[in-house]
Order: sequence, then structure tokens, then C-alpha cells
Amino acid sequence: MKKKVTGGFSLSPPLKALKKKLEIHQQTVSVFEPNMVFIPLSQHIGAPAQPIVNPGDYVKQGQVIGESDAFVSAKVHASVSGKVLDITEWPNQNNQTTQTIVIENDFNYDNDFLSTPFSWEEASNDLIKKKIQQAGIAGKGGATFPTHVKFAIDDTKKIDTLILNGAECEPFLSSDALLMEQAASKIIEGALIARKLLHDPLIIIGIEDDKPLAIAAMKKTTTSYPFIQVKVLPTVYPTGGEKQLVEVLLDREVPLGKLTADIGVVLMNVATSFALYEAVCWNKPLINRYTTVTGDVQQPQVIQSPIGTLAGELIDFAGGFQGAPSKVILGGPMMGRTVTTLRVPTTKGSNGILVFNEDNDWLFTENPCIRCNKCVEACPMRLMPLSIDQYFRAGDYDKCDELLAEACISCGACTFVCPARRNLAATITEAKNKVSALKKEALQNA
Ligand code: SF4
Ligand code: SF4
Repeated sequence: MKKKVTGGFSLSPPLKALKKKLEIHQQTVSVFEPNMVFIPLSQHIGAPAQPIVNPGDYVKQGQVIGESDAFVSAKVHASVSGKVLDITEWPNQNNQTTQTIVIENDFNYDNDFLSTPFSWEEASNDLIKKKIQQAGIAGKGGATFPTHVKFAIDDTKKIDTLILNGAECEPFLSSDALLMEQAASKIIEGALIARKLLHDPLIIIGIEDDKPLAIAAMKKTTTSYPFIQVKVLPTVYPTGGEKQLVEVLLDREVPLGKLTADIGVVLMNVATSFALYEAVCWNKPLINRYTTVTGDVQQPQVIQSPIGTLAGELIDFAGGFQGAPSKVILGGPMMGRTVTTLRVPTTKGSNGILVFNEDNDWLFTENPCIRCNKCVEACPMRLMPLSIDQYFRAGDYDKCDELLAEACISCGACTFVCPARRNLAATITEAKNKVSALKKEALQNA
């Protein structure tokens, strides 16, 4: 195992102090049940789902309400039972709108989940893959890549390692740590199912060293499995990124433009593994998730709620704002998006909601670059964030291409270390998308 990822950063003393202040110590997860859910039809990478219900319909919890014919897509399910009130454009975390199904919760939670667990050990891999696809699982670490696509691996590729990602990619988030403390055996069963699909690779679980309870729970649960290793990682961000985890755990580099499967590795977030367990063993689709609600709220906590719960309701459940809110971020401080309305619903990838009041929004106020080079040192992809940012703002996309903007993994490390608080990750991600779009356009016109 390598000592640390290329680039990356540890928290500076003021950020360490802020992290300490925001730390959540919770024995059990709080559960919130909203009166209504707002379920977006696009909450995964790939084609958006199309609605297959109508206003006025009664839906069971877990019933498919949206799907697509495209292979890279994910089914969308009702997260509560009740009446479909509307299908409408509704705010999303990108400050745009998405087609969204609104359901009034009847609190009956009427569903067709199994009452005894399915014996996956004897089942065919094709059947298990179908169950995963039916459950609409998309990476719960935030990437939201459809899980059934991840397991559709060409047989010529030998997978020797399945990595279970227990490293929250960002500071201030505790959802995965709490899940590991509370549901280690279910996460491991999900990983064993995935191992069967991948023809028995080694399983390595990577967890950062600031999560001792999660490490203890996972170690205790895996002692009888000789093919599972729990590795403790340094708390350096962004170790939880896919390529970075492969680098630090296996000392292998994923070549630019290639997938981890090309070098024999599949990664899955611990929360995704839990969802896979529920889907295969209980026919329960991905309809709930743990979300960390922290920062300047009265009672920071990890909350379990149905997908489609409004951010504002989760903040209210956490006791409401402390002071005048200045910033509300969906996700973590590095990769999350600042939202302009609290009517944004949670999705399959919503791992956190961060609230900052005026005392703490110094983290986000942009100033001119002082050319300190810290962003370059932190970039795990060895890019020049300050220069890409500068050229992108000047509209010079050729230069952005020359500087390999497309290799950016949007990890947010550059933004987080920048003393001038430049919004680097956002501009570089835009630069990456612009360069890719221009190349595609040029190819079509050739
Ligand atoms: S870290 Fe910020 S201030 Fe320092 S060089 Fe990069 S962009 Fe400029
Ligand atoms: S340029 Fe991209 S990959 Fe590099 S630190 Fe910034 S967000 Fe991460």
C-alpha cells in the first residue's frame, strides 16, 4: 500500500478545527418521514427515466415510476406509498429543473418486498444482475453511475480486486461511517454478492483513519473471510476518489481515458454495497438513504429519509438554521453544489447537506489568485488548476485542452486548498465539459 495519493491535502489547522466542530457522534440514525416526496427522473449518470405513472395513480413503496430503454440509465421508484399528485419540472441541485414525480405519502408503506431473504448463493449471475438493474441502484458515493452497468464486464477482463470504498471523499460527511458502524454485515453481504458476479476476486475495504468505530465494525465482521482485507488509509483528500483509491491501495495507475476494470479492479461505495444487499436479498429498490446534515444547523446529524425529501425539510428536522444562513450546499464542501432554493429534493447520490452562516462562509468567498501553487500541489491528476481556471475564464478553450482539462476528476481538492478561495473545481469541470463538447462537435462536422 502507498503512503498517500499523488497530490491531495490534509486539512489546515482552521479547517481541522471546523471539522472537529462539525463532527457528528450518533449512536443510531435519525429517521425522517415527509408528507410528500419529489422524485427526480434523472438522478444518475446516463439517460433520464421517463414517467410510467400518471397524476392520480396510487403507487406502492418501491414501485417503478420511471424507466428508460437506454442501457446506461437507472429505474426510478416510489420511495413511499401514496397518490401521485403531479409530474412537473422541479428544482434540482444544479440550480436547474428536472422532470419530477410528486407523491403524497400515505404513511402505509405498502410494498412488495420479500418477507424471507432470497438465496443468492445458488442463483445464476444473470438473475442477480437483473435484480440489481430492477432496483435502480446508482453509485451512492455521489458519482451515481448505474451499478448494473458496472457489473456488465466483458468476460475477457479478469477482475482480481473488488475495492469497497469506505473513505468519504470529503470532510464533514459522516453518512458512510455511520452506515458501516450500524450495518457492517449487510454491507459485507452486498460485497459477497458482487464478488460472486466478478468471479471471486480479493476484496479490499479502504477506510480513512479518522473513522475508528467504522474500522472496528468492518474488521469484526470480516475476520472469518480470508479473502477480505480492511485497510486503514490516511485522512488525505481526495483519497476516496476511484483512481486515487486504486493508486493508494494497489499502487496501480488507471491510464487516462481507461476504466478501473481495464486494470482488473472494480470499486463500489459501502452504501452502494448495502443497496445491492437490499436489492438482491429483499427485492428492495434504492429508495432511502443516509444524508449528513451539518454545519450551522441546531442539531447536526445523519438522517435516513426517503429519496425525494426536500433539503429544507431535512434542515428543519435538524432543528433549523443556526444564525443567518449564507450558504447551503448539497454534497460535501469540495464537490457539492451551492443551491439557491431549499425546495431541492435528495437523490440517490445525496450524501450531505452543509449549511454555513456568515461566520463560516469565509470558506467560499473568492479573491484574486496569489500564485502560491497550492492547487498544483494538491491536484491528484497532476494538472495546473490555476492556469486552466485562468484560461477558461478568458474563453481560451484550446489552452484548456492543451493543459489536459479533460483529465480533471472534479475532486474539489484545488478549491479546498486555495487560500484565495478560487472556485477552481467548478470552472475546471466546466472547462472539461466545454473541451469535450467542442471535440465532439468537431468530429461530427468532420
Ligand atoms: S491555490 Fe489559489 S491562490 Fe494559489 S495558485 Fe492556485 S488558484 Fe492561485
Ligand atoms: S483540477 Fe480537477 S482533479 Fe485537479 S484538484 Fe482540481 S478538481 Fe481535482
